[in-house]
Amino acid sequence: MRLRARRRVWGYGAIALLVVTVFASLSVRPLIVGRSEVRQDHNDDLALRQVLDYRATLADWQVFIEPQFGKLRTTLADIAPADIGKGAQLTEVQSAEAQRAVNILKTMGFGDIARDIANANAVFSKSLSNLAPLIAGRPLVEIAAGIAAERAMFTQARAVTATAAAKLKQAIDHHSQQSIRNLENGRTTVMVVNAIAAVIVALGTVLVGRGARRREYAERLDSQRREFEETLQQALDMSKTEPDAYRVMSEALHESVPGLQVEMLVADSSRAHFQQTLATSSPTDAGSRSGCGVVSPLDCPATVRGRTLVFPTSRALNACPYLKARPSGDLSATCVAISITGKTSGVVHATGPDGVAPSEHDVTYLEITARRASDRIAMLRAFEKSEAQARTDPLTGLWNRRSLENRVRDLQREGTPYSLAYGDLDHFKVLNDTHGHEAGDQALRLFARVLRDSIRPTDITARYGGEEFVIVLPECDVETATKVLERLRERLALTLGTGRVPAFTVSFGLASSIDADTFDEVVAVADQALLTAKTAGRNRTVLAASHSPSGV
Ligand code: GH3
Ligand code: MG
Ligand code: MG
Repeated sequence: MRLRARRRVWGYGAIALLVVTVFASLSVRPLIVGRSEVRQDHNDDLALRQVLDYRATLADWQVFIEPQFGKLRTTLADIAPADIGKGAQLTEVQSAEAQRAVNILKTMGFGDIARDIANANAVFSKSLSNLAPLIAGRPLVEIAAGIAAERAMFTQARAVTATAAAKLKQAIDHHSQQSIRNLENGRTTVMVVNAIAAVIVALGTVLVGRGARRREYAERLDSQRREFEETLQQALDMSKTEPDAYRVMSEALHESVPGLQVEMLVADSSRAHFQQTLATSSPTDAGSRSGCGVVSPLDCPATVRGRTLVFPTSRALNACPYLKARPSGDLSATCVAISITGKTSGVVHATGPDGVAPSEHDVTYLEITARRASDRIAMLRAFEKSEAQARTDPLTGLWNRRSLENRVRDLQREGTPYSLAYGDLDHFKVLNDTHGHEAGDQALRLFARVLRDSIRPTDITARYGGEEFVIVLPECDVETATKVLERLRERLALTLGTGRVPAFTVSFGLASSIDADTFDEVVAVADQALLTAKTAGRNRTVLAASHSPSGV
């Protein structure tokens, strides 16, 4: 997700850069054109000045030559040698200026004006050459014609330069206006580019900021979820029984999805029926929605599919049939399938207002709670199973010797008095030898069943070893215990009467916790009484000598 956000930021950056580059080049172009036009203006100005310089030399010449013409009408001698030199110098200057103007005009691209100037100057220079006889002292008549030609050519050259200057001025004006326009365009484009760049930067900042805020929010939710999961796990780790785990779960759901009513249905050992193990609110609560009516995991769509199903409304055609026609009316539901020791064996069923699909948060928290709790329940069950196996005798299902000793130790610690019967099946070896070991096992199982059926739930029965059994009867005096044992022997005889297991009998030695200080000693006293019972002919109960001198 972060990588995608970073890519998006890079994307925005690239687009912004591209837009700014395009607009910058657009804005720079008129500035470059404007600059070249300003340069062109400068050059046009140079050309104009040159034309005007040339025009000035023409005027200088004419100002010089006119007085000379005046003098000439009288006498040749009036022209001073110095003036002749000055005249030659002026014509040189004038023609050099003309040439310079022609060159500049050509360079600047004013070929037609250059041509006009060159022609005008050529004709004017020729008219000056007509004045040469004047210097050589020729007749005045010829001189007058030359003077007239010179004046006409002067006027023409002046007119050409005036036209050239006007054209140049026009060109300068045109370029100036163009450059002003371009510069104005440039200024507008720069302003637009700046505005767009500012908008892009602002937009980018908003987007990046929003992305960062979204990331921060997601991280906060994630850390809340992790914290919830950790706390839930710690609480579940402390629950030692399944009901404890359901209580923890119930509390966690009450806190994490307060808007939903949640119940948990777990399959019984046959996996044929659901049992409700928790409900965050009683169906009798005011306004509460009734629980799910599904009775078997095989009928629940969520457990059948083994995944979470969300139903925004029970009115939908494809809604779970068990959501429809509930007394509480239409509703929305989320059903999270749970598996205990790898088998889908339950469902966490949460209901909410009709038409309001459960939020992502609600579904996530339901799933987390269901998963963590079912893991814990699986663990507790496995633990319970192994504990039970360690506590009981596998053949008969009775307590084994060690767990009997532990439980009696508890009685002793509490100071609870008890009677203790030590039983031993009579001639069991013979039974085994006659009917086989399997028949012997069946006999042991049958005896255990009879034993269990003959005592109170608070009594403790254990297979002490082989075909020997110990029965501890708390808060029971030896007289009552004797009656219990007698009833047991009768029941055994009756049960064996059905004939499926070879008949056998049992002998008991009976003692009381007041006969000795320790459990082992009480067992020893009972064992002694048992020996007496055996010796006396078996199939009987003998009370320890300290209580009665005779057996029953
Ligand atoms: P008594 O009346 O004097 O007690 O005679 P008994 O034959 O019962 O006495 P003994 O202690 O000599 O024999 C006990 C027999 O119990 C021997 C053994 O084969 C049998 N036994 C002990 N444990 C089991 C068991 O788990 N299954 C089977 N089938 N027989 C067992
Ligand atoms: Mg024995
Ligand atoms: Mg025996």
